[in-house]
Parts: sequence; structure tokens; C-alpha cells
Amino acid sequence: MAETDASRVVYFDHAATSWPKPDVVLDAMQRAMHDAGGNPGRGAHRLAVAASRTILEARGAVAGLLGVAEPRNIVFTAGCTEGLNVAIKGLIRRGDRVVVSSMEHNAVARPLNMLAAAGVIVDVVRADEYGNVDADAVELAVAERETRAVICQHASNVTGSIQPVGDLADIAHDAGAVLIVDGAQATGHLRVDVGALGADVYASSGHKGLLGPQGVGILYLSSDIDPDELVQGGSGGNSEEPMQPRLRPDRYEAGTSNTPGIAGLGAAARYLAVHGDELRVLEGELTSRMHEGLLGIEGLRVLGPLPGEERVPVISVVHERIDGDRIAFELDRRYGIAVRAGLHCAPWAHNTVGTLDSGALRFGIGYGLTSADVDYALDAMREICA
Ligand code: PMP
Repeated sequence: MAETDASRVVYFDHAATSWPKPDVVLDAMQRAMHDAGGNPGRGAHRLAVAASRTILEARGAVAGLLGVAEPRNIVFTAGCTEGLNVAIKGLIRRGDRVVVSSMEHNAVARPLNMLAAAGVIVDVVRADEYGNVDADAVELAVAERETRAVICQHASNVTGSIQPVGDLADIAHDAGAVLIVDGAQATGHLRVDVGALGADVYASSGHKGLLGPQGVGILYLSSDIDPDELVQGGSGGNSEEPMQPRLRPDRYEAGTSNTPGIAGLGAAARYLAVHGDELRVLEGELTSRMHEGLLGIEGLRVLGPLPGEERVPVISVVHERIDGDRIAFELDRRYGIAVRAGLHCAPWAHNTVGTLDSGALRFGIGYGLTSADVDYALDAMREICA
């Protein structure tokens, strides 16, 4: 098999998966496999206890990072998609009505499309052409009729727009609805305080801005809600009970946990607790530099908020003549630059900003990148687009 020379990659695909990871993440994963290799929550021997402790500590670190007072309200999942599925399918019933933004990823859109076919009413509130969701428009939609849930992303994986989820929490609660937030593009890149935000559900990926490995995510469930679990099975305790125990987080974590992944995510959360602010300042600087540079390239339309407006470090562009896939191919082949072209699993969002037919070319900025990398990518773009 041909080897990829990772040292020659200039990585701008952080919105899909962040890479590289801080060394502490890799070390924690190796330690979990080497020193804590038992089955967590199952058995009392030292390696099983060490595995349980690894998960306990990771849960505490993630809860601390995200302002969650009770760590048992953080459930470890396989990713943001699983967390959103638990919340959506565990809370919403036939005949219920959902108000959702038009910027959502397929991790929200597809479960909702399935529920809509089974008798759930799904009303979509259209965001503006920059990808910004208007809280007033959501409030108007919620006021139209009884609503079970409002669902909105915290930030867009297409335009980088940051949505007013704090306001949406008040709007949902005033109407007796719950707010479900998709935080996949926000955690790590924004200072997220889930407690202060007031969301009932906050789901995110471990492998993007949180700098953890793939295959692990987080799902925050407030103490006030009680969604059904999606999966039943072994929970490590109360084995005589015929039904899934209601104890959190065990209820939502049936089967053996991804201990190495969770260990990595825990280490990443501890890393971000110390270095997160510094990283966010750098990401802001690199994003502005990239944004201004892209705006100066003829033939490119830059999606999302305007310069000076807030965004997460995601910038997508469309060239008036050259296909995004073609540019992405050239960036990789000629320059070793990794980006993502296409629809980014978000046809609703692309439809909202008018790029459903063309797709877009996305630069995701994050840990490990420098201003020299941004300048290199901009030079490459100028050459390809000339
Ligand atoms: N929502 C958004 C906004 C995303 O960007 C992504 C990842 N592309 C997801 C959900 C799905 O996350 P995961 O891969 O962790 O399931």
C-alpha cells in the first residue's frame, strides 16, 4: 500500500476532522490501551477499575470544559450524529411538531425526514443568504402552533455562521418546547458554556474542534428531560433487571465503551481548558487572514458572514467557472493542501445559501496551522484560479 507522507500535508479540513492532535491526546489513548485495558464498569480487577477511572476522569474533564455542573449529564456517544439521533428519536413522538433551521446538517435533517414520514410535523425556518438564523423568525414559527422541539446548530459547517442559540433556548422554553443544539462546529472553536446557554440537549463530535479522536462524541442532556435511549443492552450493573436501567449516564451507554477514544477526548478537554483561549485567538486571526485573502481572488464568491462579523473558523468559496472538486484535487495534488469540496452532508444549508447545485470548497481552520500556511493556501488558490 502506498504510504501518505503526512509531513507534506497542509491540513485545512478541520471542520471535518481536526488534525494533527495534541501529543497528550495520543499519549492518553496509548496509556488507556496499555495501562487501563480492562472492561470499564465490568469487574473489580485493577485493569477494569483503571478503565472505569479513565472514563470517569474524562467525563469530569469534558463536563468542566463545557460548563456542565453534573458530569452524569454528559453521555459519551460515537459522535454528534448518534447524540442527535438519541435526542431526536428519544424525545419526539408522532403528532409532535418540530421547528428547525434550514442550515442543519444531515445528522439532523435525515432523522427528521424519517420522523416526518412517520407523522411528525417538521417546519423549517429559512436562514438568510449568509447562513444566519434569525431568532425572531424562529419565535414567529414557534408561536404559530404547539411545538415540542426547536432544533438548531450552534455553528454552520458550510458558512461558519454562529447561530443565536441562547435566544432560541428562551424562545423554546417560553413556548414549553425543548431546544436541541448541534454543537459539532462550535465546541473548541467557541468558548461553549452549555449550562449558561440553557439548551436542553447539546450534542457534539469529539474529533473536530475538541481535538479528540474519531469515533467519540458527547451528548449533554439536561436533568429536566428524559429521552428514551436508542439502544438497550449491558450496562455493567443491575444485570438482573429486565429493562434498561434509568441511571445516567449508563442508560445511554449500553455495551462496552470506547475507552481509548474517551481517554483521548478527556486529554483533549484538559488540553483545551489550558490552551483553548490562546488557540481561539489564533484561529480568529488565521480565519480573518484567509477570509480577506479569498475575497481578493477574482471569480470567487465567499459564503457566510462578512469580514468583521463573527464566525467559526470555516470558510467556503465557490468559483464562477472552476468546479470545487477540481480545485480541491489540484490543491491536494500540486500543493499538498487538504480541503473539502461538495455539499458537506448539508444539502439544506447549501440550498439556503444558493449553492446546492455547485457545492462549495471549504477551508476548515484549526490547531496546528500558521499564518504561513494560510498564505501558502492563498497563493495556491490564486494560481489555480488565475
Ligand atoms: N453536525 C454538523 C454541523 C457537522 O458538521 C457534523 C460533521 N460533519 C455533524 C453534525 C456530524 O458529526 P459526527 O461526524 O460526529 O457524527
